[in-house]
Amino acid sequence: MSPLIKDSSLQAVLNAAEIVEVVSGYTSLRKRGATYLGLCPFHKEKTPSFTVSSDKGLYYCFGCGEGGDVVRFVERMENLSFSEAVEQLGERFGVTLEFEEGGKVDSGRRDRDARLLLALEKAATFYQRFLWETESGGPAREYLEARGLRREVCDTFRVGLAPDEWRGLHRRAVKEGFTDRELDEAGLLVCQSGKTYDRFRGRLMFPLIDHRGRVAGFGGRTLKDESPKYLNSPEGPVYRKGQLLYGLFQARRAVADADEVVVVEGYTDVLGLSQAGLSNVVASMGTALTEAQIGLMMRFTNNITFMFDADPAGTEAVLRSGELARRQGLRPLVAMLPRGKDPADVAVKGGAEAVRRVVQEKVSLLGFEVRKALDEGDASSPEGRVRAFEIVREIMSRATSPKERQEEMAVVADRLRLSPDNVTLLLRGEPGRKGDARVAGAARDKTGAAAGAGAGRGGGDSRAPFGGVYGRGPVGDMAGRLLGREAAVERELLVAAVCNPGRAAELLDAMTPEHFADPSNREVFEGLRQALVAMEHSRDLEAALVSLKDQARPDSEAGKLFVRLVLEADQARYSPGVLEELHLRTQEQFLDRSVTLLRGGLGEGADMVEDQRRLFHLEQLLQRVRLNLQNLDPEEGEA
Ligand SMILES: [Zn+2]
Repeated sequence: MSPLIKDSSLQAVLNAAEIVEVVSGYTSLRKRGATYLGLCPFHKEKTPSFTVSSDKGLYYCFGCGEGGDVVRFVERMENLSFSEAVEQLGERFGVTLEFEEGGKVDSGRRDRDARLLLALEKAATFYQRFLWETESGGPAREYLEARGLRREVCDTFRVGLAPDEWRGLHRRAVKEGFTDRELDEAGLLVCQSGKTYDRFRGRLMFPLIDHRGRVAGFGGRTLKDESPKYLNSPEGPVYRKGQLLYGLFQARRAVADADEVVVVEGYTDVLGLSQAGLSNVVASMGTALTEAQIGLMMRFTNNITFMFDADPAGTEAVLRSGELARRQGLRPLVAMLPRGKDPADVAVKGGAEAVRRVVQEKVSLLGFEVRKALDEGDASSPEGRVRAFEIVREIMSRATSPKERQEEMAVVADRLRLSPDNVTLLLRGEPGRKGDARVAGAARDKTGAAAGAGAGRGGGDSRAPFGGVYGRGPVGDMAGRLLGREAAVERELLVAAVCNPGRAAELLDAMTPEHFADPSNREVFEGLRQALVAMEHSRDLEAALVSLKDQARPDSEAGKLFVRLVLEADQARYSPGVLEELHLRTQEQFLDRSVTLLRGGLGEGADMVEDQRRLFHLEQLLQRVRLNLQNLDPEEGEA
C-alpha cells in the first residue's frame, strides 16, 4: 500500500496541474465563452459535449455524465489509482509530495526509488542506442530481422542490446553520477566479493515497463547458446516480480478500447502480435499469472483471453492462471494455437489474418478443459469413454453458467460418440450437486465394475453373457450404459445379425437408426441393413459386407466394426436365440432412453398433452419388451 499523500500536497497538485493542458493530451478543446468544449474521450460522440472549466479545475460530459477534477481525469484516463494519479501529476507539474506516515523516512525512500528509476530509464535508452547505432549491434539486428520483428515495433517496446563487455553500462552510469550501490539496487550491476560488473552482457534487452510507463527492470535474452536463455532483473526496491505485466503500458488504450486483454507468455509474442495489429496484448512473463497481475488487468477490462503455447507447460499455465481468474469472478477465454507454434510464429508467418483466426476460435476455459480431457482420454473403448466422461462431468460441474455448459455439449457428444440428447441426459445427474454425491459415487463404482466385466468378456466366449452384465442397472448408472454397455449390446446385436442373416433381415428391417445410441453402430446398422437386402439377390452376405467395409474409413470406429462383421460372418458365434435377446435388449435400451428423455423434458415443451400421450405409448412398449425378455427361454441363449 502506498502511504497517504498529505492534504496540503494534494491541494498543491490540484493548484499546479492545468486541467486544460492535461485534457488536451487526449482530445482537442476549443474555447467557448468561459469554458472549453471538445469530444468526450470517455464515450463515442459526434457533437462535442465534453466541457472543461479552467477556473474551477473541473470537467464534465453532458453526454455520458462523467466528470470530476484533474486527478479523477488522470485516474480514469490512465487507469491509475488515486495516489498514482496524484504522483504522476506531481511529477509533471513539479510538485514535491509529502506523505503522512514517517514523512522523513518515506521521502528518503522515495528519493532513492526515484534515483533507481532514473538509472533504469537511462539504461533503457543506452541499450536502445547501442542496438541501433553501433556496429556491435549488427548480429542482434539480424536476429530481430530473422524473427520478422521490424524496427517500429522494437522501438515501441524499447528493445535494446547490452554490450558484450564487463563494464559497458557501468562505465557510462558512473559518468552520469550513479553509485555502485544504486546500480546494484536497480539490478543493473552484480557486486560479488569486492568485484562489480554488468549483470546483462551481450543480451537482447526487453525493458520491463510498469503500467505508468516507468522502466522497473529488464528481461535479457541471450544471443548465444547460453544458459539461462532469459535473464531477468532480480527483485528489488522498484522491481517486484508478479506485480508487473509486460506490455501493459503500451497496450492500455487498446485493451480499454477492445474491452479485452490477450495474455501471452513471452516478450516476443507481445511484439509479434502487436506488429500484426493485435495491440491489446500483454505477457505474463513466463509463469502463471499472479493475483496482483489479474488485479492490474481488471482495472482495464474483465475480459481475459489466454493465448499460450500448445505445449504441456503452456497448458499447465493456462489452467492455473485461468483458475485464479475464475476465482476473481471472471470468465476467462482461451485462444488455442496450432500445435508446436507460439504466438510470435503465428503472427510473423501468418500475419494479421492468422492471428485473427486464432482469436476468433477462442473457447471458454471450460471448453478448453473439456477438450483437454477428451484429448487425453481413450475414446476407442467403452471403458475409456466412461472414464473420459466422468472427468468431463466433473469439469462441467465447475461451469459458472448453464449457457457455458450448453456450449460444450456438442463437443462432448461428438467426441464420445453420443447424441446431444444423451449428453444432456448424462449430465443431469452431475456430481457437484448436494445430496447427489453418494449416488454419483456409487454409480462410478458400478461403472468401473461394469467396464471390467465388459473387458473380460471380449475373448471369444461363445455363450450369451448378457443376462447379468447387460441387465438394467440403477438410474445413476446411465453413463456406463450409454457410453459402454448400451453401445456394446448394440454391437453384439450387429454381430449376432451377421451370424443369422435370414432372421436378421426381418428384425433389422423393422428397426430405425435411432435405436442405436452409438453413432458408429448406427452407421454400421444402416450398412448392414443394406447388405442384408442385397443378400436376398446374391446370397453372398460376405461379399456384400466386404463392399461395405471398403466404403467405410478403415481407421474409423465403424470401419473397424465392419471388419469384425466380415470376420464373424461365417463363424456362427451367436445362435438365433441370442439374436432375439439382443434385439429385444437394444429395443429396451432405446425405449428406456426415450422415456427418460421425454420425462425430463415434460413441462418444458409447448405440447404437453402430446408429450404425455407419447410417453404413455412408449412406456407400454417398454413393458411389452421387458415381458418378452423375461419370457425368453434361458436355455435358448446357449449355443
Ligand atoms: Zn462522455
